[in-house]
Order: sequence, then structure tokens, then C-alpha cells
Amino acid sequence: MLGLMQDQPLLISSVLEHALKAHPHTEIASRMADGSVHHCTYADIGERAKQVANALVALGVQPGERIGTLAWNGYRHMELYFGVSGMGAVLHTINPRLFPEQIEFIANHAEDQYLLFDLSFAELVEQIAPRLKSVKAFIALCEREQMPAIDVPGLMCYEDLIAGHSNDFIWPEFDERTASSMCYTSGTTGNPKGVLYSHRSSILHSLALCTSDGFGLSAADSALLVVPMFHVNAWGMPYAAAMCGAKLVLPGAALDGESLYTLMRDEQVTLALGVPTVWMMLQQHVETQALQPATELCLNRVVIGGAAAPRIQVDTFETRFNARVLHAWGMTEMSPLGTICNPLPKHRDAPLEAVLDLQAKQGRALFGVSMKIVDEQGAELPRDGKASGLLLVKGPWIASQYYGGEGGQILDSEGWLDTGDIATIDTDGYMQITDRAKDVIKSGGEWISSIDLENAAVSHPAVAEAAVIGIAHPKWQERPLLVVVLKPGRTASKDDLLTVLQSRVAKWWLPDDVAFVEALPHTATGKLQKMKLREQFRDFRFQT
Ligand code: AMP
Repeated sequence: MLGLMQDQPLLISSVLEHALKAHPHTEIASRMADGSVHHCTYADIGERAKQVANALVALGVQPGERIGTLAWNGYRHMELYFGVSGMGAVLHTINPRLFPEQIEFIANHAEDQYLLFDLSFAELVEQIAPRLKSVKAFIALCEREQMPAIDVPGLMCYEDLIAGHSNDFIWPEFDERTASSMCYTSGTTGNPKGVLYSHRSSILHSLALCTSDGFGLSAADSALLVVPMFHVNAWGMPYAAAMCGAKLVLPGAALDGESLYTLMRDEQVTLALGVPTVWMMLQQHVETQALQPATELCLNRVVIGGAAAPRIQVDTFETRFNARVLHAWGMTEMSPLGTICNPLPKHRDAPLEAVLDLQAKQGRALFGVSMKIVDEQGAELPRDGKASGLLLVKGPWIASQYYGGEGGQILDSEGWLDTGDIATIDTDGYMQITDRAKDVIKSGGEWISSIDLENAAVSHPAVAEAAVIGIAHPKWQERPLLVVVLKPGRTASKDDLLTVLQSRVAKWWLPDDVAFVEALPHTATGKLQKMKLREQFRDFRFQT
């Protein structure tokens, strides 16, 4: 027997329509290229998203066709999030930090029909345009008088394009499983692969973000998205914010510590989301300028995700910013969120050290995400916080395959996706990543967590950033090498660093050597690029 409830598909357009009725006056603040901050409301976004939809229909865009963007976080990108997906096309956000050849590959593979771009990418667009086979026109996200002097076929001005169209549009109704947006993985091995999100998966994921044990997002929040709208839909925040009426603060291209700090102060940001590398820049700014974030800001929660949150960073947010850290884990294939670290009642009065121990974990699964850890033979391991194994996941906002069937079958016979991460899960359900399977250091038949060593190394006050890689060893198979970047003007010796590590990790985990470098390589999404680092140290040998 079927239930007797109204059968309404979960569509992204319905989120926008809700925002228009429930919180039309809530603001979206966007930092523009000239440094000014543009303010508009959900009502404005709604009207302009409808103009976008009308313009796309007039251009002949068909349902399911891909519309590419090369853009920072800003209100025009937000209009595209709703206008493109709402009218039934697929918003394909491209990461502009990738190499031009990768961008060409991605846009061609997705067969993007139009490409909308921010002016800072005008030269990049001119460079790649001749090789983008499917793109019919390139649309600059600007006013007429700002149009770039570049030579690309069918160059159009976004403001002109939408100005001629009505701000009234009846959103089409279709199957909620219809594709809404896509994002390619960074492609650290092989070509990037497309992950195709659906209206249903995006809405379920957003609902989970709004829960108290998610990000606890609400109309009381002013949310700063440092996480880019060109990577996994800015962790789903544009939809979730529109759903609950949170104010959005979009920082554009200015992600340096000073720009973020002033935006947080001026836009009264309560929740900020980003990867550890951007928070490192923010905290350095606060340190060097001797700022007082606990009194100057009203920051309440900081989400750290995309890479393991360093303990010292969490400590600084908790003590100097008076903000609670929500450590979160996920991946492009998971929309992206799988776990968020929120406390249980038993942690309520925990001392700082215990809070930091908890925050080192990536958290408990959101409803909708099933996870388990298995050994190399696929047998499930106990949830005792000690056994570590490959982390597998399953759920309605997790990819079932890549776009175009690339990479073949990605789920096992029971529908589990191998995340490529190694983790423990404790009796309360808190998951902790110990490493990427390909980064873990295999020493004498045991595993050493590079993440734990890096975390310990950055707790030294002179260390800005650290990476640990395995180096071949004649006796132990591999031994850890610590590679560090020191803060400007600070010094530390190998012995200083090893002394700090000694108090935090098992003796046999201690790196066999320490190398000092000017900078560490990062991926286009801000993660340490260990493959490149291993290449850099290919000829390195430990002195025995
Ligand atoms: P991507 O799909 O590019 O976002 O990368 C996903 C991968 O980033 C995951 O499989 C993890 O290896 C890593 N990752 C994401 N969040 C965290 C976190 N909080 N701690 C450790 N690793 C993380």
C-alpha cells in the first residue's frame, strides 16, 4: 500500500521559491574584484535567476545540457546555481585553478554548451577557447562597459544577456533524479572524472547540513563561504542557505587573511567554512596584526574540511576566536559531506585538551551516509576506535558511477564506494581518518599515519605547514620524512622538531629526517600534493 502523501519532486527551483517567500529580504554579500562589497537579497537573486532561465531558453538550451562556469564565489554565480539547474540544464562548475589542459579536457568531456566566466579568467578563456569544441558562446559575468578585450567566438555580456528577459519564469517540473550540477574530481591519478549530482541528492544533502548535528545552519546565521563554488557546490551551502534563510557572504577572489577578516567583521559572520590552508592564512594575519577576534568578530562556528584539521588550528579558533570548530569530512563523490564532528552530552564540560582530542576526529555520519571500515580482504573491522581500515560509504547523495561511465564500476557488489581513506570508527560512531591509503607510511609491516605526524609538527610555534611522506628504506620498507615550511622570520632545527614530536607520537613513528622547504605543493582544491612531493624527494636517501 502506498502512503497518501502529496508526491512532489525535490527540485532545486523549489528551494529558491521557498527563499523568495520565506526570507526574501535576507542578504547575499559579495566581494567584487575591485574590493567593494555588493549587497543584494534572495528576492534579487530569484528575479535574476529567472532572467537567466529565460535567457537560456531563448539561446535554445535544452534540458540536460551542460552550462560551464569559471567563476569565484559571488552573487552572479549564485544566480546561475538556481537559474541553470532550475530550468533543467546542468550547472558545470569548473575549477579555474586546474591547468588549462585539464580545463579543456573537462569542458570538452562534459560537452559544455556555454561557458560563463569572471573577468579574472578572461585571458584563460581566450587561451583555451579555440580548443573548446562544444561551446557555442562565451559569456562574461560583467556589465557592458567592463567587457574584456579578448578574441573569442561569440563573446557575450551577461548583464546584457539577461537584461532583455522577463524576471518571471514558471519552473518546469521533472523527475527529482534529474541531473542538476556536475563537478570533476581533481584527477590526481589519470584524467579528472565527472560527478553528476541530482536535484534529489542536492536537496537531501542540504537538509542534512541544516540539522543541529550538521552545521546547525539557520536564518540566524551569516555564513562565509571560503570554500569555492567551483568545487562540490561549495559543500552544498548555496542550497542549504537558501533553504533555511541564512545570509551568505561570498568572498570572490580575495582569500588572504586580511580580506577574510574584514569581511567577517563587516558582515557579522557567525559561521565560516574553508580548508585548513585558508584558515592558516587567516590565523597568521590575526597573529601578526595582534588582532582580537574574540571581541571584534561574532564568529560562532568554523567548519574545517577538505583535509585534516591541525590541532593547533582548532585550538586557536577555540581559544583566540571563541568559535567552535566543526571538523567535517567528505569527498567530491559524496556531495561532499559524510561526517561532521559535533559533541555529545558527555563532552559538554570536557576540558580543552579533551575537546581538541575529539575535534581531531572527522565526526559522526550524517543520516543518509552509511559507513564501515574493512581490512584488505574486505572483512568488516570493529568500531572500537583502534582498528583502522579502508573506509567504505553508501547513501543517496553518494555517486553510483562517474559521468560517461569513466573508470568503470566504482561500487562493490553490495553498493559500497571505497573512499580511498583509511580510518577508525569508535564506539560512539566518531570516524577518524588516519591517512589516504596511498599516503600511509608502511614501516616494518605496520602503518604510520602521516596526518598524525603533520598535526604534531605544526604544533611547533615556528612551523607554518608540514607534510610527511614515506621514503624507501632497506630494512623497514618505508620510513617517514618530515618536510616543513617555517613561518616567516622563525627558526627551528631538526632536533627542536623531533623533540616536539616525541611528546606526541610513538617513538617508532618519529621521522628519520627533516627537510626544510620554502613551500609545499598543493592541489587545485588546497590539499597537500603528496605525489608531487614524493617526486621532489625521489632521490632522497636517509643517512644511516
Ligand atoms: P575531494 O574529493 O577532492 O574533495 O577530496 C576528498 C578527500 O579529501 C577525502 O577522500 C579525504 O582524503 C580528504 N579529506 C576531506 N576532508 C578531510 C578531513 N576532514 N580530514 C582528512 N582528510 C579529508
